[in-house]
Amino acid sequence: MTHNWRDPSVYLKKIYLAKNCADDPYAKEIIERAGLPVTIVSEEDMGSLVGGEYPENLKAGKKSLLLCRNQGDFLKDCPGTKEYRCCDYQILNVGLGCPMDCVYCILQAYLNNPYLSFFLNVDDLFRELSAKLRSHKGKVFRIGTGEFTDSMALDRITGLSKRLVSFFGRQEKGVLELKTKSAAIENLQNLEHNGKTIVAWSLNSEEIINHQEIRAANFEQRLDAAARCVQWGYDCAFHFDPIVSYPGWEEGYRAVIYRLFEKIPAERIVWISLGGFRYLPALKKIASSRFPHTHIFAHEFIEGMDNKQRYFRKFRAKIYKIIYEELMARCSPRTCIYFCMESDEIWQEVMGFRPTEKGGIGNMLDQAAGLK
Ligand code: SF4
Repeated sequence: MTHNWRDPSVYLKKIYLAKNCADDPYAKEIIERAGLPVTIVSEEDMGSLVGGEYPENLKAGKKSLLLCRNQGDFLKDCPGTKEYRCCDYQILNVGLGCPMDCVYCILQAYLNNPYLSFFLNVDDLFRELSAKLRSHKGKVFRIGTGEFTDSMALDRITGLSKRLVSFFGRQEKGVLELKTKSAAIENLQNLEHNGKTIVAWSLNSEEIINHQEIRAANFEQRLDAAARCVQWGYDCAFHFDPIVSYPGWEEGYRAVIYRLFEKIPAERIVWISLGGFRYLPALKKIASSRFPHTHIFAHEFIEGMDNKQRYFRKFRAKIYKIIYEELMARCSPRTCIYFCMESDEIWQEVMGFRPTEKGGIGNMLDQAAGLK
């Protein structure tokens, strides 16, 4: 079964605008582009914008977008743990929620509002970013918007990528990673990106894309979008995360890797991450009730040191070795292949070294991005 969701923002049906942003020029711009009905809401209304109980109301909630101000910080450290190696990344929080609906999406358990939010006070965002990039003499930053939302899913109507890419194009000490499962990349054309934006896609086997990533672009659409970004001078990245076990996984992932390197020039890929499926118990409860036919939890798991359920170490190493060998046979020497949240033992067993031997994952990625 294939599907056609190049641009998941078309799922939106309604915009809510926070009362204190009623005259915001950026809100007016977004509303004009979206062409959807708008209701102005006060803070007290925000808890009841979508009827029903969470998380049952998520499917309906994802049709609504709240435009509001971010009252907190825009930048956060990526929440790594000391037990598993993480990559020293900064998250730029531009909004919450996503119109796509992946069965395994952690946001289902992490957020508690069914609707999507987008933050209008981008002047504050750029002030905070500028201060960060001026701080810490000598330090460089990899910053991404794809943690609490998908970086490009709403971009057709928000146009935020144009502002971000142009901003990063003028920076010395930082790169922006836009991470997506959509193919809505039109806004990235003709921007002065200066090599400071990396456009990244989460990839999976077609079986997982077609059955577990609802309203996401299909595999060929993602590759086509990546190929266009390469034509426009961007470097790309890919994230095989979550790698899911199912009957036929081995052929499924091999096929994706063959096709990826047929379509995208290896030397234009900055990094590729690998992460086995892992989840918090709260997610299993929510996802199993929302998607009763999913098989992704029908496997043996073990609780990791971060309280997440993971495949057994031996099995993770097996999956990773197969994928890593396929990638190594094709990738460019410049490409950094790394694990997202894995132990030193897995690194050693699969890749033959520990990240600390190369200055840590952060250092490896900084070098791959040309920041050092
Ligand atoms: S695309 Fe990302 S943010 Fe959106 S539902 Fe899927 S996993 Fe969640």
